[in-house]
Amino acid sequence: MSRTPTRLHVTEPLSEAAEIILPQAQAHYLRNVLRLAVGDALFLFNGRDGEWRADLRDLGKRQATLALTVQTRPQAPEPGPWLLFAPLKKDRTDFLVEKATELGAAVLWPLFTRHTMTRRVNLERLRAQATEAAEQCGRLTLPEIREPMDLMDLESRWDGSRPLWIADEARTGSSLVQQDLSVPPGLLIGPEGGFAEAELDLMGRLPFAVRVSLGPRLLRAETAAVAALAGWQALTDT
Ligand code: SAM
Repeated sequence: MSRTPTRLHVTEPLSEAAEIILPQAQAHYLRNVLRLAVGDALFLFNGRDGEWRADLRDLGKRQATLALTVQTRPQAPEPGPWLLFAPLKKDRTDFLVEKATELGAAVLWPLFTRHTMTRRVNLERLRAQATEAAEQCGRLTLPEIREPMDLMDLESRWDGSRPLWIADEARTGSSLVQQDLSVPPGLLIGPEGGFAEAELDLMGRLPFAVRVSLGPRLLRAETAAVAALAGWQALTDT
């Protein structure tokens, strides 16, 4: 069975015949986790310069040296929905971030609500989770992971460039098929404990918001996030 090519996100510029030196942590990952050896090829992307094939020229304990050979994919825009979500227990937030990355979310924005389970959000951990998912699924960009915001600040923080689909647990919202699909929306998923009345009132007043239903069953928050993103992907083939 052919092995999926190894992809690695780097921050350095990528260009023909460039040489990239990876620090100890990434060298360790290539050697001890991916079991790569000198002469192996892998694919690099940085979110700006497309995807490049690179040959592993040196793999020491302290660093690895990669020589870029050819651009395999040009950089392409990857506009996707913005996912606003109430942080969940650690492993379920990890799951949500990984699936949202695979499903093309462009922005992940943790949202504190009255019933949010936790106000501790490890952004570095979430960014590492998203990077690994982007490497695996073939994206050319990483989702932007923002500092958490309080739901009650939403009106002043929303730039209005896109509609906000509020996943309405009461299932009284309209279906995704009825929405404006011309621009990737914001998708707002509530906490396990649901929205507080004051929050529902606030969201009901937002001119850019629309309540959507994700079907007849009551979904866990991370399931609702996947359902909304998968719905968008199915309707727009993006
Ligand atoms: N505590 C709430 C209750 O008992 O009604 C349930 C909250 S649900 C576990 C978490 C979030 O998922 C909700 O706030 C909502 O955003 C979303 N959600 C769950 N099922 C949904 C559905 N069928 N349609 C739209 N949104 C849904």
